[in-house]
Amino acid sequence: MIYLDNGATSFHKPPEVLRAVQEALRTCANPGRGSHRPAMAAAERIYDCREAASRLFGCLPEQVVLTTSGTHGLNMAIRTLVRPGDPVVISGFEHNAVTRPLHALGAQVTVAGRKLFSPEDTLEQMEDALRKRPKALICTHVSNVFGYILPVEQIGWLCRHYGVPWILDAAQSAGSLPLAQADFVAMPGHKGLLGPQGTGLLLCTRPPEPLLYGGTGSASLPPTMPEDLPDRGEAGTLNVPGYAGLTEGLRYLHRTGIHGMARRQQQEVRRAAAGLERLGFTVFSGPCQLGTLSFLPHGDCEEAATKLARKGIALRAGLHCAPLAHESAGTLDTGTLRISYGHDACPSQTQALLTAARVLL
Ligand code: PLP
Repeated sequence: MIYLDNGATSFHKPPEVLRAVQEALRTCANPGRGSHRPAMAAAERIYDCREAASRLFGCLPEQVVLTTSGTHGLNMAIRTLVRPGDPVVISGFEHNAVTRPLHALGAQVTVAGRKLFSPEDTLEQMEDALRKRPKALICTHVSNVFGYILPVEQIGWLCRHYGVPWILDAAQSAGSLPLAQADFVAMPGHKGLLGPQGTGLLLCTRPPEPLLYGGTGSASLPPTMPEDLPDRGEAGTLNVPGYAGLTEGLRYLHRTGIHGMARRQQQEVRRAAAGLERLGFTVFSGPCQLGTLSFLPHGDCEEAATKLARKGIALRAGLHCAPLAHESAGTLDTGTLRISYGHDACPSQTQALLTAARVLL
């Protein structure tokens, strides 16, 4: 099988990730819940994960709140900055993990920047919206549908200039691109960071408002959650085997370096775009694009994905949990077929895709 669904989750994890999960299950108890050896081993695995994340992202270990997914971190960050009815700015390419929490809060949402692959439009529209001093700006770094890389350095600069707090959704960029410094940066552990499902990270410049209340293994007496990072965001028993695996994913990325990763994915996306266009499909590609590409087959997307799956190509069809991005690009009615490359992106994957795609002609 050629796995081109890394936008959903990475599938071929480095072997050390698998070994670490198994080792943690064998040796670890509950972190911070005892001074016996298995509890201490668990605490060490958890600290290792914060430390590996802090090295990769250039923050302090205590600024790393361990979450269960990208969605978990985004909800926590949004609940910290946004109150019911608050004005908020988002890009035109957000995932439901951003739009649904805002909808649930009844936030007044301004969508700024809907032109695909146009950093100029994104920045112009966002600056206009920031002049009205919203309570927060929330945006994805890379569109999970189209691979569009938003100009996050400049967005960060604008947010600081207008004094507006910023949440960055790094779900599709962490592990492939350097991240910008936002008030909160949320990311899954199971996509580009190569960890297991059920893991995520929220990088925090200040303690978040808890989503969950409960035991943290620290300061048990008060009825309130601890005030400090990272405990304020981490109630309940942590997924120790998951974070032990994630640590190895983070170390792998630190060792191999992420620049080569982005370059390889971009090369394959360009190759795939050219090949799919040659076959006569409508392809969404542009200058600032990472390892994800959407295209339209001649018929129904779901049927096309099933045909390609039978040919051994794993990709995704539909709206990809991001109807807003499709609305921006004009593909809400059809959805798209999406390929998304991972850390193992290589020409033979693209060649196999292009050969199999003939079944759609
Ligand atoms: N944001 C974007 C852009 C995503 O692509 C995803 C997942 O696909 C998420 C948020 C949510 O991440 P998770 O599935 O880990 O909750």
